[in-house]
Amino acid sequence: MPEAIQTYFPHGSRIAVLTQEPVGMLDYLAPEGGVRVGQLVIVPLGPRRVMGAVWGPGLGGFDAAKLRPVQRLVEAEPLSLEMMEFLGRMAEYTLTPMPMMLRMATRAPDIDQPPGARKILYRGKVTPERMTEARTSVLRVIEDHGGAGFAPSELAQLAGVSAGVVKGLIEQGALVETLAPRDLPYPHLDPELPGKPLAPDQASAAEELRAALRAKSYGTTMLRGVTGSGKTEVYLEAVAECLRQGRQALVLLPEIALSSEFLDRVDRRFGARPGEWHSGITRGERRRLWQMAGRGDVQLVVGARSALFLPFRDLGLIVIDEEHDNSYKQEDGVFYSARDMAVLRASIAKAQVVLASATPSLETWVNAQSGKYARIDLRSRYGGAELPDMAAVDLRAEELPSGRWISPTLAKAVTARLEKGEQSLLFLNRRGYAPVTVCRACGQQIGCDHCDARMVEHRFQNRLVCHQCGETKPIPQACPSCGVEGKLAAVGPGVERLAEEVQERFPEARMAVLSSDLFNSARALKEAIAEISSGATDIIIGTQIVAKGHNFPRLTLVGVIDADLGLQGADMRAAERSFQLMRQVAGRAGREGGDAAGVALLQTHQPGHPVIRAILSGEDEDFWDAEAAARRGAGMPPFGRLAGIILSHPDAGVVEAYARDMARRIEPLRQVGAEVFGPAPAPIARVRGRHRVRMLIKAPRQAPLQTAISDWLARLPKPPSNLRLSVDIDPQSF
Ligand code: ADP
Ligand code: ZN
Repeated sequence: MPEAIQTYFPHGSRIAVLTQEPVGMLDYLAPEGGVRVGQLVIVPLGPRRVMGAVWGPGLGGFDAAKLRPVQRLVEAEPLSLEMMEFLGRMAEYTLTPMPMMLRMATRAPDIDQPPGARKILYRGKVTPERMTEARTSVLRVIEDHGGAGFAPSELAQLAGVSAGVVKGLIEQGALVETLAPRDLPYPHLDPELPGKPLAPDQASAAEELRAALRAKSYGTTMLRGVTGSGKTEVYLEAVAECLRQGRQALVLLPEIALSSEFLDRVDRRFGARPGEWHSGITRGERRRLWQMAGRGDVQLVVGARSALFLPFRDLGLIVIDEEHDNSYKQEDGVFYSARDMAVLRASIAKAQVVLASATPSLETWVNAQSGKYARIDLRSRYGGAELPDMAAVDLRAEELPSGRWISPTLAKAVTARLEKGEQSLLFLNRRGYAPVTVCRACGQQIGCDHCDARMVEHRFQNRLVCHQCGETKPIPQACPSCGVEGKLAAVGPGVERLAEEVQERFPEARMAVLSSDLFNSARALKEAIAEISSGATDIIIGTQIVAKGHNFPRLTLVGVIDADLGLQGADMRAAERSFQLMRQVAGRAGREGGDAAGVALLQTHQPGHPVIRAILSGEDEDFWDAEAAARRGAGMPPFGRLAGIILSHPDAGVVEAYARDMARRIEPLRQVGAEVFGPAPAPIARVRGRHRVRMLIKAPRQAPLQTAISDWLARLPKPPSNLRLSVDIDPQSF
């Protein structure tokens, strides 16, 4: 018989509480009424009160007479044993201290506040008599957030109005103020509503996923199919099955804050909207969702990567859409891949994972090849819509005066679309006007004062911007280095400069520029995207934000302005990323099929490059095979293991000296067969005034890498003050 886990501790018994403080685990006495394992509690720590979670029986070794009792319980469901195990195993994998893990898992506002303490505003029934612009904008913010959950000051701030405007609306009854928390369950999603009739390959894919769910065990499936092949439709059937079982489902999307399209789709399929979790929702909604996840009163959550840490009561399915997307990797605070941690969480919760993508990450592809993951391929576009025809435009053979970026071949294709009333998308993954501003008198480039990065001219904002730290400054008249006036020149293209060229060459065309920096809110960007979808634009110019999932029905031409961008570079993942991005962008064309089957033109100086050739031929399997072979040959992930160590300090000498010292003590790493590269300047050697040094640790697949790194770090001398050290297991770039 396995030892039963003690889950209840009577009044006065000794318990271990994991606090959110660096001290971690401490012993306390269970309060009156006893306490359950996983319960969030407030405990005294010195003169302070801190939040923690009951983790198990007391650790002992402490004078029982000195133990202090738990002060009070937090009003929330206890963390499940599964959740506790997940946090522990993730901490081990990512080498994150447990208190930080707990903080991540309880990152919802006000969960330790007793009910009644918060003033929260909801949409009222009455419409105000006098609709001023300020009032309209308040109501719009409320509308955008489903009508719920603002603190008055938060609402005023978000709407950009004074507190008086909000007060006026409350007085008129257009906003309702409540004191009690409105932690209402989410509206019921009905899995029995009929879905769309599925095409045969969709139907068998859906059945495969349903069968996997019925087994109520862990499994991961790669769901691969080009954009428009109906993957979403298929995984919604898996969600339906999960809901039928009474379990909860989680769908992660890369740009959830930007798109309400998916929420509407859920609404149409299940008759209600799901819970939403991302940076754009209000504090009240965050609190509500966190609480409801724990009570099992939200069936489906759609969210960004951090939704993975919601305290689901019974999670049966995690879908990761566009699973190859970079935004699933968090690279500050706790370094983790939401994709990999989803697999971990599911394996503990006996849940299914679906990894959906047109262009899976190499890791996922290899796991599907080896049989570790199941694999489902949707081979055609739904309804017979065709993939775009792809062709390279060989820039070596085109007349292209300097300062121009649209080749005659591409221009002709755009003209043809304009004549037919169809849309063109010109893709250039570079924000701003020009990547480099150089002085023609002295040859100096304008750089950031705090980073090793160039300042990028943003002409629409009339500023220079550092893309590393966000620092901006006015565009100077004179060169900051030599003082000569009027000699600063923009070099190379950014989307803003491309827009200038489009305006000159196609003056009649209606143009939109989609670049994250040109919109000051997610809503403004959403509106722009909706406008493009409705057909109000002829030429779209965009950075990688256009690559993600938007549906532009009249789009039949995609022009990749610089297909060579990203092909080079020391990074071993560069080819994979370029391949994914260009495929994804090209996939925007001709989604609806019929007459409007699309064309994608890739402007390149290297039409023979393997990545360009793989994109053009459509032979994805060849590309993955070749990439996998290269990685295997080099012992790189997923065939070997990597960890990155990033050290930073304001003083370059200090950080370099400490790094060299670390590099002299790598015995524990050597013992497991690991090699250490560096220390070397990090890819961006200075950010926000801190000098950064990186070491890469490469180990064989089976090596106990985390243990070795822990041993190594534990034996290091005390680091100088203000030195920051982060460990990045499975770094994205290498
Ligand atoms: P993907 O997720 O692979 O990009 P989607 O599931 O979004 O593909 O499907 C692409 C388009 O085709 C969507 O507009 C979707 O509504 C439609 N579609 C997919 N499958 C069906 C179906 N079985 N019946 C009707 N429309 C469908
Ligand atoms: Zn900077």
